[in-house]
Amino acid sequence: MLVVDQKSLSPALVSPVRPALEGVGAYKAGMTLAEAGRLAGRGDLSKLASNENLLGASPKVAAAVQEALASPEIYPDPYCETLRAAIGARLAVDPARIVMTPGSEALIDYLFRAVLHPGDSILLSSPTFPAYEIFGRCAEASLIDVPRLQSFDLDVEAFKLEAAKGPKLLVLCTPNNPTGNATSGVDLAEILAVTPRSTVVFIDEAYREYHETFDTLALLKAWGGTWVSARTFSKAYGLAGLRVGYGICSSAELVGYLDRIRPPFNVTAVSQAAALAAWDDVEHLERTVALTIAERGRVEAALDALGVQRTDSAGNFVFLRSPAGAEATAARLLREGLIIRPTPVPGGWVRITIGRPADNNRLIAALPAALAV
Ligand SMILES: *Cc1c(COP(=O)(O)O)cnc(C)c1O
Repeated sequence: MLVVDQKSLSPALVSPVRPALEGVGAYKAGMTLAEAGRLAGRGDLSKLASNENLLGASPKVAAAVQEALASPEIYPDPYCETLRAAIGARLAVDPARIVMTPGSEALIDYLFRAVLHPGDSILLSSPTFPAYEIFGRCAEASLIDVPRLQSFDLDVEAFKLEAAKGPKLLVLCTPNNPTGNATSGVDLAEILAVTPRSTVVFIDEAYREYHETFDTLALLKAWGGTWVSARTFSKAYGLAGLRVGYGICSSAELVGYLDRIRPPFNVTAVSQAAALAAWDDVEHLERTVALTIAERGRVEAALDALGVQRTDSAGNFVFLRSPAGAEATAARLLREGLIIRPTPVPGGWVRITIGRPADNNRLIAALPAALAV
């Protein structure tokens, strides 16, 4: 007689997913406009929670998108040849060393999956962008965290000590999200000098356009190991909704490996066309970056007048400590129509994106009441 063990057949008893996923928290995105509108009971919102460029993409993007929309039945170029050629030409990088991805978040995922074995170590410095921890845990890596100093600057000496031990992956975000601190070229060079070439170095430069003070690629090349510099069209280029990012890699061979993991048609034709138009409009980029930096100065002056503790941000956002607490401040600002990002950093730290001048005026007017204890 055949005995069937009913328990082993019961689908509810055993989770179908890998145990590693049980310990992973999904990425918590900023509030959408629809969600915020419902909560605030108003439609006139300033979305200052996700570091988008509210000054918008180049006006040339709209026409390029329109043209690409003429043939939606055709698959996009899986290798984004035109876009990579344009990026390579301006950066003086062989396009064979560039990989395009649907946002640089996807690049983090692909690279981590490509290089991490279960149990490998990732060196990072918190507080920083949550995707490294999320994708690191998904890849069953262990995290080595060298927390930032009280100023939220990188603890360079402590970071160097860990880097010298040869973690599998070294991750550095500069300017850092959410704190805004930038790592100097001198500090990066010192870190690389002690890092074994067996370590894979990942530099996240999502905010590079706001702070181009040194040539990261030259430093990485001089170091000579395996590395990726991640960049994006989501921030300064104003294309967050269309999902285009790219990695500049140490070798064409590494790009080839990422191409094995990467779904082939993952950057849409519309997105490629938009990114190319945005990339070519250098004047628009420079104008919006300059205005954002000037506006950041205005917001910082208002914070300083209120005696608020803040970092020296090199990005398109400010990072400040609210005496009222992060969640209370976010809730109060939401009632005024401003969506900001409370962070879990102890002490009431919030991140606020620099918007259009009118958004920033609104913010400056609302801050005193929103921060008051
Ligand atoms: C916004 C951001 C990204 C990713 O943006 P994508 O839209 O996926 O290109 C990556 N890293 C940091 C630090 C960011 O702030």
